[in-house]
Amino acid sequence: MRMMCGKEEKVLGVQKAPGNCPYCGGGVAATDVEAKWLLCFLPLCTNNKRRFSCTACSRRLVSYPAIVHD
Ligand SMILES: [Zn+2]
Repeated sequence: MRMMCGKEEKVLGVQKAPGNCPYCGGGVAATDVEAKWLLCFLPLCTNNKRRFSCTACSRRLVSYPAIVHD
């Protein structure tokens, strides 16, 4: 069994986000990611986050307008 230390990320799903890419005007995809910090085999904590990226130019939209709350 392999020891795993560090961070593990799992993509939960991708959906279309409202708005357009500020760089090329393409569509925006919201990727839900579950991030888990591991201390060897012991999961420390998990948190889910949402990332935005452009579906056309693949840029990470880090400063995409404060996440749409629904
Ligand atoms: Zn783009």
